[in-house]
Amino acid sequence: MIKIEYLCDNYMTDQKDIRLLSKEQLVTLFTEWGEAAFRAKQVYEWIWAKKASTFDEMTNLSKSLRDKLKENFVFRKITLDAEQFSNDGTIKSRFRLFDGGLIEAVLIPVPKDNRFTVCVSSQVGCSLACAFCATGKMKRVRNLDPGEIYDQVIAVNHQAMAHFGHPITNIVYMGMGEPLLNYRHVLESINKLCGPDGLNMSARRFTISTAGIAKMIRKLADDESKCNLALSLHAADDEKRNKIMPINEQNNLDELMDALEYYYKKTRNRISYEYIAFSGYNDSLEDAKKLSKLCKRFPVRINIIEYNPIDGFDMVKSSEDTIDRFAQLLRAQDIMVTVRRSRGKDIDAACGQLANKE
Ligand code: SF4
Repeated sequence: MIKIEYLCDNYMTDQKDIRLLSKEQLVTLFTEWGEAAFRAKQVYEWIWAKKASTFDEMTNLSKSLRDKLKENFVFRKITLDAEQFSNDGTIKSRFRLFDGGLIEAVLIPVPKDNRFTVCVSSQVGCSLACAFCATGKMKRVRNLDPGEIYDQVIAVNHQAMAHFGHPITNIVYMGMGEPLLNYRHVLESINKLCGPDGLNMSARRFTISTAGIAKMIRKLADDESKCNLALSLHAADDEKRNKIMPINEQNNLDELMDALEYYYKKTRNRISYEYIAFSGYNDSLEDAKKLSKLCKRFPVRINIIEYNPIDGFDMVKSSEDTIDRFAQLLRAQDIMVTVRRSRGKDIDAACGQLANKE
């Protein structure tokens, strides 16, 4: 028996997910089984183009071949577990994984701009424990495999079509988990979604959002990523950032700025800073000045985000006036700033709130 090297090595149990095999690996396997190569291509087409969920759907294969596939493989697609609809059109979906794990994805529609963004999860739980984030209160359970990330996008794309008659236009890796700590699977999911097996989307429509892992930002640059990069910044000095984002202790702002400059110079992709405004903590004019200094070395846009309260963290959101003054100071220095009023708050789908509450 030849050894099949899986695209993903999360769980090499006796039941192997057929979707972890590349087309070439399927052809190799079928050759080993004495089957024609075109059969492997048919199976591949069933899995990706026709989105099959069972081997019985593969009606152009003989029963004996379907039975052989069933003996050796399973499908580990995610299934929709619950949907919540916000008054502002946002839809939060909870998906169940083959091992019982739960993850969430959010559709954020802006019909007037023809923008339909999906925010996807990359891990079950998260190890980085950012103080303001509901996911950070959960332990990291495991990385998602590429198919589990892919499935979220395809499912939310169906939702967008069903509810708004429009496909998704943007994909942000900003849900549960730190995408750069599931690097290979995140990139594989992007490759798949960008190609004919996915949605034929440009990689420029993807944004990877990171809490800041300098080494992996550099790796992303070396791997010639075409994706936009968002840094969850939230504080413009190390002392404040350490308090709300423990990852900053090993990846301080100097290291992060060096890595981001490297990313920009190598890829010319768009970089943005996400900045949640906490009243009395990071929203003074002094903070704005510090933040503006972090915008000098490469072009960057800042998204100021309203804080969405979670249990166990007692800061409160900044007032609208304070945020406006903060944004004005930055704009006065020619820094591009967007103020984001949160979406989906009523269903705990806003930034930092994803945590499988039930
Ligand atoms: S903000 Fe992101 S990196 Fe931080 S704990 Fe939450 S999911 Fe993890």
